[in-house]
Amino acid sequence: MQDTPPSVPDFTQWPSFPFEGDLRVKQLDDPVPVEPPRRGEGNRECTACSAPDEAYIWVGERWRVRAMDRPTGLPMVLILESRSHLDLGDLPNLLAAELGVMTVRLERAIRSLDGVARVHVSRWGDGSAHLHIWFLARPYGRLQLRGTFLSLWDSILPPITEAQWRENLALVAAWLAEFGGRPLAEPPRIQWQAPSSLSAPPEVEAEIVDEETVSVIEAAEEIPEPPDDPTTGQRPA
Ligand SMILES: [Zn+2]
Repeated sequence: MQDTPPSVPDFTQWPSFPFEGDLRVKQLDDPVPVEPPRRGEGNRECTACSAPDEAYIWVGERWRVRAMDRPTGLPMVLILESRSHLDLGDLPNLLAAELGVMTVRLERAIRSLDGVARVHVSRWGDGSAHLHIWFLARPYGRLQLRGTFLSLWDSILPPITEAQWRENLALVAAWLAEFGGRPLAEPPRIQWQAPSSLSAPPEVEAEIVDEETVSVIEAAEEIPEPPDDPTTGQRPA
């Protein structure tokens, strides 16, 4: 057994690593012999199966796309879910093939947004048994956000504006709807103002898109075990 704590890995020196200062590696808990059920497993309710279509920004016959419940630091964070209660390795061929098509389509839609350089696509599945794929948009020009730690930066950066967020959601929903399905995210109402009132701050509609979606970090808090090796880009969710 190791008596001295392991030194921190090289990635803590990467420009993309969000923290600085003295760091030390956490003690690992002992592995549990039997892992607890995820959401939608055993007797735990499945939040995806019980969520109505209205909780999503776009819905189709076999797939749904949901947003976070509020703007976060990245220009766009979305989750693609199958309608059926299946995990990735359990998808029948039809859904497996469609997953590829949907992944490409959604990546393209998010990448088409102004100010988005790259879209990171991730699947962890440690929090919920219902298939869900994360799509995280990296802002253009923010080279320090490249790679593995993008999901951490999402909670560190100041949130984008509500109006920008809603506009982005509506654009992605409309893009997906070009291929079928139903867009549910609407653009923010245009705030037409007479010139004399231009100095007043515009009102933003506070419609809740999705009350049940948790943020990346909140999802991680569901996980009783430490996350996987961050150098592989794995994240509990
Ligand atoms: Zn489910």
